[in-house]
Amino acid sequence: GTPSGYRILNEADLRNHLAGTPAVAARLGGPAERWSITEVGDGNLNLVFIVKGSSGGLAVKQALPYVRLVGESWPLPLSRAHFEHLALTHQGRLAPGLVPAIVHHDHALALTAMELLEPHIIMRKGLVAGTIYPAFVDHITTFMARTLFFSSDLALSAAEKKEAIASFAGNHALCKITEDLIFTDPYRIAEQNRWTTPWLDAAAADIRADLDLHVAISRLKLKFLSSAETLIHGDLHTGSIMVTDAETKVIDPEFGFYGPMGFDVGAVLANLLMAYFASAGHEQSPGDRAAFESWVLSTVDQVWSEFARKFVALWRSEATGDAYPSSLFPGEAGAARLERERQVYVARLFQDAVGFAAAKIIRRILGLAHNIDFELIEDTRLRATCEARALRLARTLMVETASFTSIEAVTKAARELR
Ligand code: ADP
Ligand code: MG
Ligand code: MG
Ligand code: MG
Repeated sequence: GTPSGYRILNEADLRNHLAGTPAVAARLGGPAERWSITEVGDGNLNLVFIVKGSSGGLAVKQALPYVRLVGESWPLPLSRAHFEHLALTHQGRLAPGLVPAIVHHDHALALTAMELLEPHIIMRKGLVAGTIYPAFVDHITTFMARTLFFSSDLALSAAEKKEAIASFAGNHALCKITEDLIFTDPYRIAEQNRWTTPWLDAAAADIRADLDLHVAISRLKLKFLSSAETLIHGDLHTGSIMVTDAETKVIDPEFGFYGPMGFDVGAVLANLLMAYFASAGHEQSPGDRAAFESWVLSTVDQVWSEFARKFVALWRSEATGDAYPSSLFPGEAGAARLERERQVYVARLFQDAVGFAAAKIIRRILGLAHNIDFELIEDTRLRATCEARALRLARTLMVETASFTSIEAVTKAARELR
């Protein structure tokens, strides 16, 4: 239910609330009547206000008791603001500088005031414009390696891990959105599905009849449901990343819970691959985005390889958890055996990431929530051509996952489809 004290804030309410919060008022500076307040939320779920005073700015996010994209007919618990705040706090400790700093959180209002990211833009917009982000690989792989490693059984005691799982277990309504919209609806007739019709009608019907694919997506769904490996962000697409040339900040972890690591890694890979396939639809003249496209694919390669390298390095030096007790791996022989096991672990994680990446691609083309990478291609036939290439890659990645033994095999397959 809605906690008492909750109300959807209009601009005047928000101004009053912020003025009554000393830490916030000090940061904004000047008289409250002079603060500028603009609602900028472009996401699917929540309100986001940009507030600026004479000495600083803030982004203020408030959860609504329903899904913004759909309206009051689709209720969604306000508790997601609590889980987002918890995840953001946790990520800020594990990956300093890679998420916005929190300035204020109000539980009853389901509201968080955080560092205003400026002049950062949503990475997806930059990718549509063909912008290259040279620091992205280093930042996102540090974010993923550190958040995913330090919340796992490789770093935590069994008791800590179980308490941590419990602290996010209540976020099941957000998980259910993923379970339905990513792992189920695109593969069946569902009212909320849409695709670029008529061009993709046949491809959508093929996917609804493809039982090998239905087995593959169901295995991934089971992994998402049951594999409490670590605290994942849960919505790590390029619309949840804000960037400049030099900085990368991950926002919007309201889908956070203890789930499979590969879901986050796969989300990043999938969204880069979609930026690659959409790029042909944003050309002004043939080939004018070739340098961008080659950067995107090399970024896919490096996101995986740098993530894996950093994750394994953390495992070598920071393995304080209850998994793989060092007493079982004594001496040089033990160390060598454990090192081989790390490679096996990473190979398994790669398979998970490839499968989840495929799931993330298919849902953006056949499900409810689409992305501007494709949606901004106005010529629907051209858009469908780009989407069909991405769908073909995704189908292969999901059903023949085991045949992709390296990230280069994935980017090679993508290049061959372009
Ligand atoms: P939702 O959960 O509804 O998707 P997001 O957290 O993704 O909400 O925020 C929606 C939009 O608000 C983002 O796409 C971005 O444009 C803007 N935004 C969010 N947080 C910040 C921030 N800290 N600084 C600047 N802009 C932000
Ligand atoms: Mg968002
Ligand atoms: Mg979203
Ligand atoms: Mg969100």
